[in-house]
Order: sequence, then C-alpha cells, then structure tokens
Amino acid sequence: MDESRTGYIDTAFSNGYEFAQGSGYQLPEYPFVEPAELRSGATGHHPVVIVGAGLAGLTLACALARYGVPAVVLDEDNTVGVKGASSRGICYTQKSLEIFHRLGIYERIAGKGIQWSVGRTFAGNDEVYSFDLRQQSGYNLSSQPPFINLQQFYIEGFLVERIRELGGVDLRWCNRVTAFAQDGERATLTVTTPAGDYRLTADHVVDASGCRSPFREWVGASVTARKGDDRWCIADVRFSKHPPVERHTWIEAPFNENRAVWQHLMGDGVWRIDYQMAPNADPEEVSREDVVRQRLTRQFGADCEVEIVWVGPYAYRSECVDAMRHGRLFFMGDAAKVVSPFGARGGNTGIADADNLAWKLAAVLQGRAPATLLDSYHEERHEAAQQNVQVTNRTARFLRPADGVERLFRSAALGLARQFPFARQLVNTGRMAVANPYTRSSVCDATGGQSVQNVSFDWPDGSRGSVNDLLLWADGRLLLLVFGDPGRSGLARLRALAQEAPLRCVQVLGDTDRAGALEHVRDPKGHLQGACHVFGHAWALVRPDAYVAATGESIDAAVVEAIARALGAHGADA
Ligand SMILES: Cc1cc2nc3c(=O)[nH]c(=O)nc-3n(C[C@H](O)[C@H](O)[C@H](O)COP(=O)(O)OP(=O)(O)OC[C@H]3O[C@@H](n4cnc5c(N)ncnc54)[C@H](O)[C@@H]3O)c2cc1C
Repeated sequence: MDESRTGYIDTAFSNGYEFAQGSGYQLPEYPFVEPAELRSGATGHHPVVIVGAGLAGLTLACALARYGVPAVVLDEDNTVGVKGASSRGICYTQKSLEIFHRLGIYERIAGKGIQWSVGRTFAGNDEVYSFDLRQQSGYNLSSQPPFINLQQFYIEGFLVERIRELGGVDLRWCNRVTAFAQDGERATLTVTTPAGDYRLTADHVVDASGCRSPFREWVGASVTARKGDDRWCIADVRFSKHPPVERHTWIEAPFNENRAVWQHLMGDGVWRIDYQMAPNADPEEVSREDVVRQRLTRQFGADCEVEIVWVGPYAYRSECVDAMRHGRLFFMGDAAKVVSPFGARGGNTGIADADNLAWKLAAVLQGRAPATLLDSYHEERHEAAQQNVQVTNRTARFLRPADGVERLFRSAALGLARQFPFARQLVNTGRMAVANPYTRSSVCDATGGQSVQNVSFDWPDGSRGSVNDLLLWADGRLLLLVFGDPGRSGLARLRALAQEAPLRCVQVLGDTDRAGALEHVRDPKGHLQGACHVFGHAWALVRPDAYVAATGESIDAAVVEAIARALGAHGADA
C-alpha cells in the first residue's frame, strides 16, 4: 500500500483528539501574504480579530462578511482541515445546514455531500433500534434535510471561497498567535509569520483556535475536564460494492470483539468506519495496515475489495470552559468545549456559536445594540456547551461503561431493547446534535429561546420563500412576524416601530386574510406559525440567528419591551 495515500505515517497524536498523523487527502494550500502591519511597521487596529480558520472561525468570518463587518482571521496553517488527518467531522445537522444556507454555501454542500435519514443500531446480530428522521414530524418541514455527511475540509474550503467572494475579511494564513493581552482600551495580539513577528490590536477577539487553545492559559480561564480510556480507530475506505446509505451502528459488533462500530458514507464514495478498540489500546498497533485489513475482512468478508483511503486512531476527552467571555475575548467552538464525537455535536455546535455571536457583534459594531448584548453570548452558548458535554458524556459512558452499575445498566438496556420497543430509547449510540434551546438567556423571555426552522411560506405573488429569505432581507435586524390581523391601531403601532427600532415587520396571513398596509407573506399551511411556536393571532420576534426572542398576543408595550430586551437593552426603550 502507498503510505503517502493511506496515512500510516506516525502516531504523533498531533491534535486534541489525539489523531495519528497521515496524509489522506490533498488539501488546498493558501498563500502567505505579508500583512499590512509588517509592510508598514505600524500596529493595525481592527474591530474583530478571529484566531483560527477552522469550522467555527470560518463560519463566524463568513457571517460577519455577510453583515458587512470587517474582520481579520489569523491561522497558523495554510490550509483547511487538519493536515494529514483525512476528515474529522463528517455529519452536519439541519440547524448547521440552515445556517450554511443563509451564508450561501448550502447548495455546494448538498451537491457534494450525502443525505441520510435512516439510522440502525445493532447488538450482536439483532437490530435493536432504528429511526427514519424524515418520518419524524418537524424534520421534513425545513428546506434543509435532517443531515448531510461531508468531509469537514470541504465545508471549510467552501467557507473560504465564500468569504473571499463576499469581501471585507482579511484571511491571513501562516499567522500564528503567540501572545495575547487586554485592557480597558483594547486587546493586543502578537503574531508570528514566515516574514517576521508583528502586533495588532482589536476591540474584540474570538478564540476559535480549537481544543488546544493557548488563550485559556493566557486569560486564566478555568476548565472543567474529563478524560477516559476509550480508544477508537477510524478506517476511511472505498468499496467495490458498498452497503446501504444508512447510518449503521453496532454497540456489540461480533466482527469487532463485541465492541462498538460506526459506519457512514461521506463524499467521494468514501465510507467512515469507526472501530472501538480495547481500553488504552496502543494506537500504533491498532492502525497497522495488516491489523486494519483484518478488521475490514472480518466485517465485510474476504471477497469484498476495499481501498483504504486513510486510517486514524483517536482518543477523546470532554472539556468546557467555565466562562465563554473574558473581557474582549470570546471562546468559540472547540476552544470553548470539547466533546466526544458521538452525536456530531462538536463542529455543529461550534457553527451555532459562530452564528450566535456574529449577529450580536454586527448589531453592536453597527450601532443597533448596546455592548451589553455581547454578554448574552456566554449565557446562551455556555448553556448549550454544558448540555452538549452532558449528552455526549452519557453516550460515552454507555459505549464504554465502567464495571459495575453502568455495565449492568447497559446489559439490561440491550436485553430489553431486543424484546420491547419502549426500551430502545435507552440504547445510546449518540444523540444527534440539535439546535440547543436557551433557557437562561437574559435577552430571550420565557416564551422565547427556541430555534426557528427554515420552513417555507408563499410570497404575495404566490412564489415560495423560506424563513432564511426573511432573515436575509432583515439583514442583521430583528424580524417581527405578526400572525393574522392586528387591527388598525396595531398596524399603526407596527409601522411606527419599524421606523424607530432596528426591526423589520412582516404580516403573516392565512389563505384568505386580506393584506394590510405592511409587508406580508402567506402561510396557508401554518408552517411558519408552527416554526415560531405560536398559535392564533400572535407575534413572534425572531433574531438574525433564527431563534425566537419572545412571543406575545397584542401589539402593545410588551413588543417594545421584547425588542429592547432582545438587543440587550433591558428596561430601556428600543
Ligand atoms: C472522529 C471525529 C469525528 C467527528 N465528527 C464530527 C461530526 O460528524 N460533526 C461535527 O460537527 N463534528 C465532528 N467532530 C468534531 C469537529 O471536528 C470539531 O468540533 C471541529 O473541528 C471544531 O472546529 P473549531 O473551528 O472549533 O476548531 P478546529 O477545527 O480545531 O480549528 C482550529 C484552527 O485554529 C488554528 N490555530 C490553532 N492555534 C492557533 C494559533 N495559536 N494561532 C493561529 N491559529 C491557530 C488551527 O490551525 C485550526 O485551523 C468530530 C471529531 C472527531 C475527532
């Protein structure tokens, strides 16, 4: 086998997931361009500096570019993905796909990726659990599918190209941040490049530098962490004759010494097969080609031709910073929290972090909201991070139970699931990422905090639109959707509000309702109303990240209060 293609190189465990290094794919290489600071010798000042051009940093940069906020992105590398590590993430959930749709790269992802909705779970030779997400109410209402599988570096590459297309973001490759300091005036970063070191200052710095973030130490961030002895080995392969395009998981695979196995299809006809190894297994041993081939033969038979694209053993840990904001610094993506890969919660929630912070930074920097709005980033995304850590830790414990009660519980759950449908919910091979609700946010009231799906409606001319069209039209402002007829005085108030507040108002009418004097759309099937979690005559205040800030019934002072609150101006007039 050609080593340069398969990645049986060394087992340096080069990143936080402790991947072995290899050279799976040829990734694009972006040129180093001497930064303005080095050319001029002056310290440049920027409103936003993002450290890390991974999934989270690039999503943020792309969202800021769309809102017209200039930003600098610094990455120590000159490519997307992790050099030599094939792909880490492969599975992108509906919420992420909806975000990518707003950013303008969804069509490319859909064109290249694999859509799936059926998952099957096996224990031994028995199927103990299966689902088809398309059959589950809700998932099929969005314009985006429940999931798409695609190698992470493709998504990052699409983001890079889109950022370049939108303009306004200075992407700096081969720029490694080596020091950080901040005071009441500004944050200062020291950067090392092939052409020398330089400094730049910023109003806001986003640490999207991944799970080995140096910023945690630089700002003294406390971290809650947990590491286990569970070990896995990935084989990315192509088959002469491939299995069904479904997510198959084995909790106890007879062909893997009764340990777990995952099997998914990604782009380019490459299958990701994750094999659970013995606790504390030696990564060098488990990723040797002959050992990998033996595993593949046990699973697929000797007559199945398998081309090995890449192999990578990994361990995982779970970590969460205790505060997502430290003055001018925001932690984002894996820099903020690291979770096991079960449930595809790592990258997907980093994308949601970026979508959450982008509109808030834009609103503050463009004068639509006070700086206090930025505090809500920690409130909302820390709650999400904690949920994700908790959910993934539960899965990890199911897959690698401690001896005693945990192992007993798992055996009982599997035994029951074989016989009784009710027990299938106990079988935990990963709870797929969701749009986390916000219950502790100071900018959402008790009626808000839920994500709005990208459902469709009819424009006045009868053509189809979707929630994202309205959000793009609102362009970083809040969106007030008014369902039904608010009456003449209500309409007059809405018109006044739309003049005064950074807001767009839209009346949402049923099939036969008469249009008033506001912009309107039609929602004959009630999908938009359902997506906003309201019924009857009501209003819903929707944020640029497609989350409901608040809902209510009458167009009165409560709307004004909700707008002020959503912008972080509690108690003040909008
Ligand atoms: C086996 C496996 C499977 C996974 N599957 C999924 C999945 O299906 N779906 C999913 O959503 N997630 C998945 N994940 C998780 C996902 O890969 C990560 O959560 C994601 O890469 C985190 O993105 P990030 O942008 O926060 O960090 P990273 O992708 O790690 O990016 C950090 C960037 O910062 C740069 N950097 C670091 N230090 C510096 C510095 N000092 N100066 C400048 N630049 C710096 C790096 O070069 C890098 O480009 C999986 C992970 C693993 C291990």
